[in-house]
Amino acid sequence: MQETITRNADLRSILTEARRALQEEVHGHLRDGRTDRPKEVRDEIERSDAGLQGDIELALLQMKAKTLARIEQALVRLDAGTYGACSECDTEISERRLRALPFASRCQSCEGRREQEQGAARRVAQRRDSGALFSDVIRP
Ligand SMILES: [Zn+2]
Repeated sequence: MQETITRNADLRSILTEARRALQEEVHGHLRDGRTDRPKEVRDEIERSDAGLQGDIELALLQMKAKTLARIEQALVRLDAGTYGACSECDTEISERRLRALPFASRCQSCEGRREQEQGAARRVAQRRDSGALFSDVIRP
């Protein structure tokens, strides 16, 4: 039990620090855009396709916002005392996994199964896409 308390205190400080950094990035980005970048990076961005760059930055920002939300959920689970248990099967998530991925909400095997399911869904979608393409080709 003492070990869990120490682990959770460690992870809480990791999560809090990660949250602070992400909040700064996400909110700082929304507030003043690219002004935090060094000059040469700004020039590089201005030379490149601004629209594409904007898309990439937006995608990155969305990813960071999503991670931030997961970190906040993990902190809520820490407060509620449910942190470290898999949200699907209730198994204790291994400490190794939590240290690598402090906001993980599923154990390794549930996450693996989920990824497999998502992969299968993607493959079905791709098949559907290529099917549509094929029917276009054979249409007179
Ligand atoms: Zn699980």
